[in-house]
Amino acid sequence: MTRTYEVRTYGCQMNVHDSERLSGLLEAAGYQPAADDVPDLVVFNTCAVRENADNKLYGNLGHVASVKAAHPGMQIAVGGCLAQKDRETITRRAPYVDVVFGTHNIGSLPVLLERARVQQEAQVEILESLEVFPSTLPTKRDSVFAAWVSISVGCNNTCTFCIVPSLRGKEKDRRPGDVLAEVEALVADGVVEVTLLGQNVNAYGVELGDRFAFGKLLRACGEIDGLERVRFTSPHPKDFTDDVIAAMAETPNVMPQLHMPLQSGSDRVLKAMRRSYRRDKYLGIIERVRAAMPDAAITTDIIVGFPGETDEDFEQTLEVVRESRFASAFTFQYSPRPGTPAATLDHQVPKGVVQERYERLAALVDEIAWDENRALVGRTVELLVSDPSAAGGRKDRETHRLTGRARDNRLVHFNPGEHPVRPGDVVETEITGAAPHHLISDDPRITHRRTRAGDAWEAAQQTSTGSVGLGMPGIGAPPVLADAPGCAC
Ligand code: SF4
Repeated sequence: MTRTYEVRTYGCQMNVHDSERLSGLLEAAGYQPAADDVPDLVVFNTCAVRENADNKLYGNLGHVASVKAAHPGMQIAVGGCLAQKDRETITRRAPYVDVVFGTHNIGSLPVLLERARVQQEAQVEILESLEVFPSTLPTKRDSVFAAWVSISVGCNNTCTFCIVPSLRGKEKDRRPGDVLAEVEALVADGVVEVTLLGQNVNAYGVELGDRFAFGKLLRACGEIDGLERVRFTSPHPKDFTDDVIAAMAETPNVMPQLHMPLQSGSDRVLKAMRRSYRRDKYLGIIERVRAAMPDAAITTDIIVGFPGETDEDFEQTLEVVRESRFASAFTFQYSPRPGTPAATLDHQVPKGVVQERYERLAALVDEIAWDENRALVGRTVELLVSDPSAAGGRKDRETHRLTGRARDNRLVHFNPGEHPVRPGDVVETEITGAAPHHLISDDPRITHRRTRAGDAWEAAQQTSTGSVGLGMPGIGAPPVLADAPGCAC
């Protein structure tokens, strides 16, 4: 009998994309996605970045364990960053787990599951470094028209708050020809938007000995016929060179959008974080991006309450936020993450102080984002229509609106009027209202362009199970290219 599976994903876009590969691998091995019934296999793709990640994992595992107890033959697997970090601890604390695998060997999952079944014994396999670039593995894409494309994995930096380097290893770059071949294959299957993915995406090329490789890759994406939108995440300010700004501005399908983590506006705190740029460098990049692309939406990540952060340091962060006029920001309260250098630093900021700063920062971010959004009322924007079950689905059904992403990645809820608009199609419409986190268009005079992506979405509705390709796009659940925060880069 066919076994069914469910993958539960926690954390950043890397994990989201790894989960697409896990689904692809499992389907290539004969598994099918579970519908509403109890799955024969539950895979946890974990994240070690968030606070209390391990307690939350064991809570969730305990819940699935009781289901497993009532369903003989059911298996539980744990992968991702927390598995890489905790290894055998997982099977000790949760002896009902069948397989623990790491970030470097997701391709082994089907074999480990089979071995656990035959040997009736938990299998723990963690590799210290990557053997095969994961993009060569089967992939079941979450969206038929927007896709993640990994260009590198790992990170050579040593930010003191971050666990990633010890779990994902040193940066490994994929060859440009392989990246472009994957993008071309995706486009041939109906994809119109790709997001180039790397822990430190603009450091791409360090292994290839070409410090301009990232800008060249953006320009090469511009040559691909039928590829309408190119994005990337997340760049590091330290590696942000002017050739990348020029490539963004001069390549029409590279979108006017930049998500560039700030983390702190205080040079003193940046130094303690071991982030090797300073406030002036960050602001300089923003200024040059805006000069080259006046309509660019810039977003960021900020950590509040890093050990030793004073009121003055925090005021400096607020200043940079005011000056940068971010379209949005993911704000995090610092919490010590075991295994990171910052976890043992003195002068941890009291929880109440962190909370108060966090609230002030969030209020300022919202105020600026709302101002920036209001300035767009009356403008015509081009939207790539999202899948209705993605962000905003329920509310949209109530208001009879659809949702799309503008070129600058802003979320727009729009009225399609009488147009038979499909997810993946492109519309142009006028903005009629603004909120801090989205825009509204209730003007029914839209222009609607049917696209190959819309055709691909329509075709995908005919098949319920989807398809799996070797590093190629498949068909599956709705897109997850939402506003997921990064790994805290
Ligand atoms: S925060 Fe980002 S750049 Fe810094 S070490 Fe972690 S992954 Fe690397």
